[in-house]
Amino acid sequence: MVVGDFPIELDTLVVGSGPGGYVAAIRAAQTGQKVTIVEKGAIGGVCLNVGCIPSKALIEAGHRAEHAQGDDELGIKTENVSVDFSKVQEWKGSVVNKLTSGVEGLLKGNKVDIVGGEVYFVDKNTVKVMDEKNSQTYTFKNCIIATGSHPIELPTFKYSDRVLDSTGALNLKEVPKKLVVIGGGYVGTELGSAYANFGTEVTILEGLKDILGGFEKQMSALVKKKLKSKGATIVTEAMAQGVEETKDGVKVTYEAKGKKETVEADYVLVTVGRKPNTDELGLEQVGIEMDDKGLVKIDEQCRTNVDNIFAIGDIVDGPPLAHKASYEGKIAAEAIAGENAVIDYNAIPAVVFSDPELATVGYSEEGAKEAGYDVKASKFPFAANGRALSLNASDGFMKLITRKEDGLIVGAQIAGPNASDMISELGLAIEAGMTAEDLALTIHAHPTLGEITMEAAEVAMGTPIHIVK
Ligand SMILES: Cc1cc2nc3c(=O)[nH]c(=O)nc-3n(C[C@H](O)[C@H](O)[C@H](O)COP(=O)(O)OP(=O)(O)OC[C@H]3O[C@@H](n4cnc5c(N)ncnc54)[C@H](O)[C@@H]3O)c2cc1C
Repeated sequence: MVVGDFPIELDTLVVGSGPGGYVAAIRAAQTGQKVTIVEKGAIGGVCLNVGCIPSKALIEAGHRAEHAQGDDELGIKTENVSVDFSKVQEWKGSVVNKLTSGVEGLLKGNKVDIVGGEVYFVDKNTVKVMDEKNSQTYTFKNCIIATGSHPIELPTFKYSDRVLDSTGALNLKEVPKKLVVIGGGYVGTELGSAYANFGTEVTILEGLKDILGGFEKQMSALVKKKLKSKGATIVTEAMAQGVEETKDGVKVTYEAKGKKETVEADYVLVTVGRKPNTDELGLEQVGIEMDDKGLVKIDEQCRTNVDNIFAIGDIVDGPPLAHKASYEGKIAAEAIAGENAVIDYNAIPAVVFSDPELATVGYSEEGAKEAGYDVKASKFPFAANGRALSLNASDGFMKLITRKEDGLIVGAQIAGPNASDMISELGLAIEAGMTAEDLALTIHAHPTLGEITMEAAEVAMGTPIHIVK
């Protein structure tokens, strides 16, 4: 303790204000806890500042730029479409500001104290919070750690003005003429698609056999087809080896099919995964157990092996997604309040805001079989839905995974327009233990994409109306 650093006593301490931390803080306050949240950066964490929200804003702007080019098929012709990218960035920034200041207001409205600074653990009831000038000791009864993650840096691709991580790619001041994306996961594919819509010549280098590894082949195939139609090049089984920065760009070397290749671009975006922010927190001082990936081990209430310390979000196992972090935040807050909340990961949706959008919830057909379910997959194409046709966006399908014995819905996959919104109904169906019959008997408004859900359920029951059995 430094001279004059008198410890301040806290009830519940939340470390990090991303979608895990701020949601945990609000829920903890709602249960009557006196909450302090400490954030070393900007309120809202990665998600609101440099992740979900700005990326979706950029993707939307990209779609609008693409649509503005007109559509021969619909007889819409336009001329001289131009993009003022600084305006796009300004608008994106305003969306982020509205949300982050809204979250700050919500925290204050719930009487959560907000402290700026970096947390370092001293023991199981004590932290130091440091900013540039000061260090203050706090003691706490309970703590929820939600410190998130950061992009992995490859040793041969040191980040710079031309070698970008996702934050760098989101904040470009100009639309690149050419962009190389290393890593065809969801972040690389989303940002690559967004820039392709602005007219950038995009090359995606993916080390594995396919982009969007976690998704079924038929789903990623649709995204690849669309990306290629926008002039993108996708090289799979390509091992990026190094980058040379030139005066106004980069030369990226990679190996594919045993051959060394080079591709030149204005920028290279490296999105090869993220690392949990757990190694500079002093967790070893407290004896918190971690796995070999640096993820904190937790029980079904998000409690670490130290019983008054909880961990949530990107620093624990499972898909690194904002809604999963928020869900865990509520569980941890309620567990501290003595409630009987436990994690149930059965129905965590995952979405890629690509073109078309991909979404999944629950089991895939293969995953369900591996888990011992006797299931069948029932597919309904967007091309047989009136609304999809009237949107001129009929590429895609919905697949329902149901248990053979009783039609219980255990999973769903969607590739198509608005998949990101449509997946919620299926998450609810899984959560509520619904069967295909329940969905088939639910009247869906016409003409909507939602009818695809009803029709996929009818396929499962053997009674589809708009496709021949
Ligand atoms: C480009 C991009 C797009 C994404 N798109 C989506 C999407 O569409 N949907 C989705 O679900 N997910 C998306 N994600 C993932 C999502 O952003 C993360 O899963 C989510 O932000 C994790 O939340 P968190 O609360 O665990 O951590 P974070 O949001 O990372 O927040 C952690 C916070 O803790 C703070 N912190 C760290 N260490 C300390 C310390 N020692 N002391 C004090 N504060 C500290 C950090 O400054 C940060 O603000 C995206 C990510 C990226 C990069």
